[in-house]
Amino acid sequence: MLATVAVGDDPASHADVANKHRACAEVGIDSAHRALGEGASQEEVAECVSSLNDDQSISGVLIQLPLPGHLDRQKLMDLVDPDKDVDGLTTVNMGRLCRGSAGLVPCAPKAVLALLDHHKIEVEGKRAVVVGRSELVGRPIATLLSQRDATVTLCHSRTRELSRETRSADLLIVAAGKPGLIGRKHVREGGIVIDVGTHRADSGLVGFVDLERIRWRAGAVAPVPGGVAPLTVAALLDNTLLAAQAIETTGARSPVSS
Ligand code: NAP
Repeated sequence: MLATVAVGDDPASHADVANKHRACAEVGIDSAHRALGEGASQEEVAECVSSLNDDQSISGVLIQLPLPGHLDRQKLMDLVDPDKDVDGLTTVNMGRLCRGSAGLVPCAPKAVLALLDHHKIEVEGKRAVVVGRSELVGRPIATLLSQRDATVTLCHSRTRELSRETRSADLLIVAAGKPGLIGRKHVREGGIVIDVGTHRADSGLVGFVDLERIRWRAGAVAPVPGGVAPLTVAALLDNTLLAAQAIETTGARSPVSS
């Protein structure tokens, strides 16, 4: 069973949580939700997470982000039992990821790998450029690609001449910025572009890649909407299943650990 914890009234977060529960229902995974008020204290959220850790019927615990500013996000994340950490964001699972040992991998990075695998895109020896270095998205993607023997450049807001870096990419992963950040001059002819960015515009969900401008230049594009986001939900379901199977088969809550 997947348990989600949300704090506050952010409509986008509520929609996101509802989407995750709908996806669980579609594949037959039970799910539960704990909604805490905007003013919930660090201790109240911590207590909620601890009770879910202790509940033997629950195999996955996810704290919906973003959290209200008065809460210490990483402290709360680190209270999640690493073997139930289906978002892969505890320090323990981040460490496992960096070491290349088995663990629950964050969902968006896992989705990017799934996309590459599905399309049989080999990254070994290729030049990969990742735009965005957050702990949730960009950095783990860069680490995973490096473990697959790509030569990886990690760009961020202080990168000089972003287009010079991105134009060198056989594989360009865009996980930062704003809509339209990546245009024709940023893409190498025949390069593969994966847009992980999501922005809710008046016209609906958009990514950070200007699809119209790069369409004829890139070799292949994973666009927004579509592309990575639905696979991110699938990655969450997969992590929940992995965690549950590990508890069932080993008795220990350690799928994943080595
Ligand atoms: P974040 O924590 O705000 O990090 C943004 C990163 O982008 C930072 O590293 C920042 O650099 C960098 N950055 C900002 N502006 C830039 C620019 N103009 N050029 C180059 N780098 C720039 O965001 P996040 O949590 O990583 O999320 C990134 C995007 O992915 C968001 O749109 C989010 O909605 C989306 N997302 C999508 C999925 C999905 O399933 N598709 C899942 C999760 C997140 P500094 O480090 O220097 O500040």
